[in-house]
Amino acid sequence: MVRLKNYAFRSTISSIMEFSLKKLILVSNDDGINSEGIKALARALKRVGDVFVAAPDREQSAVSHSLTLHRPLRVEQLAPAAYAVDGTPTDCINIAVNGILKKRPDLVVSGINKGGNMGDDVTYSGTVSAAIEGTLFGIPSFAVSLVSRENFDFTIAARFAARLARFILKNGLPKDTLLNVNVPEGNDIQGYRITKQGKRIYGDAVIEKVDPRGKKYYWIGGDMLRWEGGKDTDFEAIANNFISITPVHLDMTNHAALKELHKWKL
Ligand code: MN
Repeated sequence: MVRLKNYAFRSTISSIMEFSLKKLILVSNDDGINSEGIKALARALKRVGDVFVAAPDREQSAVSHSLTLHRPLRVEQLAPAAYAVDGTPTDCINIAVNGILKKRPDLVVSGINKGGNMGDDVTYSGTVSAAIEGTLFGIPSFAVSLVSRENFDFTIAARFAARLARFILKNGLPKDTLLNVNVPEGNDIQGYRITKQGKRIYGDAVIEKVDPRGKKYYWIGGDMLRWEGGKDTDFEAIANNFISITPVHLDMTNHAALKELHKWKL
C-alpha cells in the first residue's frame, strides 16, 4: 500500500517536472496560416516542444517589419493552439507574446517561407521580421526559408528546423542575434554552412508596361539570378547545395564606419 502511494507520488512529481520542462515554441510566417510551409514546420516542431501558431490570415510576404498601429487587429482561433491574425508577422508575434500566451515562449520560429530570403532580401522579408520581433522581445528566434521557385517539398527544411530548435533551446543564441536559415531544394543537400549575408545584383527589377486604358504602370520584381561578395555568403552556400545559416544582428550601426565618421569635421 505504502509502496503504491509512493509510486503515485513519484509519478505525479515527474509529470509536473515534465510539464514544466516542456518548451513553448511560437511559430509564425508571412505566407499565411494556411500555407504548407507553416504546417510542415509546426508538425516537425511538435516533436521538440509545445507549439503555438500565430500567423497572418493571408499572405503578407515582403511586408518587412511593419507593425499595425492605426486599426484594431482581429484574431480567429482555428485550433486550441493556432490563431489567424489579420495583420503582419510582426503583429502576430506581438499579439501572441503580449496578448494571447500566458507563458513566455522559449523560442520563436518563422517559416517555412516559400522562396529564399537571402542577401538584401532580408530587409524586405516578413518571415525574417517575425524572428526580428522575437529577438526584440529577448526570445531566441530563427527564420527558415526554402530556396525554390516551383518544387515546394518542405520535408528536409522542417526536419532541419526541428534539429536547430532543439539545439537552440539547449544552448541559446548570441545576444540580439537571430538566425536566418535558407534551405536548398531537392534531396541532395551536402550539410550546412555558417554564412554571411550576400549582396544581390538587381537586374531590370522594374518593368514598365501600359494598361488596357493606355496608362503606364510599373511592376517591381524581375529575376534575381546573380549575386556578389561570393565567398562564405548565403548565396554561395545555396548554390553549392548547403543549408545556409546566417547570424543576423539587430544593431544596424556600422561599427567599422564609426571610426571613419569620427574623423569628419562638419
Ligand atoms: Mn513569404
